[in-house]
Amino acid sequence: MYTQKCIQCQEEYPPEKIVYTCPKCGGLLEIVYDWSGLSINKKDFNAIPLSVWKYKALLPVKREPISINEGGTPLYLCDRLSEKIGINKLYVKHEGLNPTGSFKDRGMTVGVSIAMELGMKTVACASTGNTSASLAIYGAKADIPVVVMLPAGKVAMGKVAQAIMHGAKVLSVRGNFDKALKLVRELCDDEGFYLLNSVNPYRLEGQKTIAFEIADQMGWEVPDRLVLPVGNAGNISAIYKGFKELYNLGLTDRIPKMTGIQAQGSCPVVNAFKQTQKDIIAIPDPETIATAIRIGDPVNAVKALRAIYESGGVSESVSDDEIVTAQKQLARIEGIGVEPASASSIAGLKKLIQTGLITQDETVVCVTTGHLLKDPEEVLSICEDAIEIDATAESVRRAVFQ
Ligand SMILES: *Cc1c(COP(=O)(O)O)cnc(C)c1O
Ligand SMILES: [Zn+2]
Repeated sequence: MYTQKCIQCQEEYPPEKIVYTCPKCGGLLEIVYDWSGLSINKKDFNAIPLSVWKYKALLPVKREPISINEGGTPLYLCDRLSEKIGINKLYVKHEGLNPTGSFKDRGMTVGVSIAMELGMKTVACASTGNTSASLAIYGAKADIPVVVMLPAGKVAMGKVAQAIMHGAKVLSVRGNFDKALKLVRELCDDEGFYLLNSVNPYRLEGQKTIAFEIADQMGWEVPDRLVLPVGNAGNISAIYKGFKELYNLGLTDRIPKMTGIQAQGSCPVVNAFKQTQKDIIAIPDPETIATAIRIGDPVNAVKALRAIYESGGVSESVSDDEIVTAQKQLARIEGIGVEPASASSIAGLKKLIQTGLITQDETVVCVTTGHLLKDPEEVLSICEDAIEIDATAESVRRAVFQ
């Protein structure tokens, strides 16, 4: 049993009502459950392999889910990197190892399953890339048409490739993500398409399983802190909700400090945090190499700021140079290949240790949200070129030892 509840005025709407924000006050919605009849025990989870649907009892979907084995991503202990940046224990939850290469799959397996339960005929989203890649693949699996809107010229190549290969109708909008989102919301309202951006509270239900998996992988302990990139601010809100639910169910004994990292050219949540505001002032022309978080007006900002304040976390911004340095360190010290947005979590952690806001005795989990191969053009622009040589042993030797 669950309803969609407004986080602002507390009005509740039945599960099958198609609303994305509160019709009464415009507030964000979240899924709230009546779990009074539910008895759940850590032992219930023992024998089941890690995946989003391992936690079906805590998710809203009733039907057989539209699934391609999402979740179950590794939690790497990063000894060498933690020593280098000066933190007690650093884990990386590598969400780039989901089926389409980003955590968006967790949201889409739930979101598209709900779309099918509701009998929707078309699904749609605006995207900085990964949401569209994920929706395209789950739409294909569910046999439902997909429309995606991308900011023209600002989407990493791998993501566009996925969206077009899996058969979505891909519209390249001359404007930034925030404009594309406005357009797709209008389209969904006018045409009855189902909106699967992270304003949709069902999508965040899937993404909260990142928290479930981390706790599960750490033996139902929780880390002191979670550090992750913030774009449209859905994921930090979802993960916080997941940790809160575990705590309320008595499965864990505390909630980690939620720590949101943004790029300097695109950091409305950080600005609000630094002025202890509850809401953001939008940035009209966000810019960063981390295109996945190039968002000036994040829809979930209110939820994200609540997550940060309530958990005692912080929010910080990092430069593109700091992102690139962290991306290379993660790749070359730990063998973890991530796209730029994901590396902002490591860059942010480093900065917060340097400024003393994070103490060295903490156990930290950084969430790396997307795979390196999403954005090969960025890689080629920041790394050394391959060395082209003549096909002779002499040229090989010269190049190897030069
Ligand atoms: C979507 C995305 C983000 C941002 O997540 P939000 O929920 O929008 O804050 C960060 N990194 C990657 C790789 C993403 O695809
Ligand atoms: Zn309301």
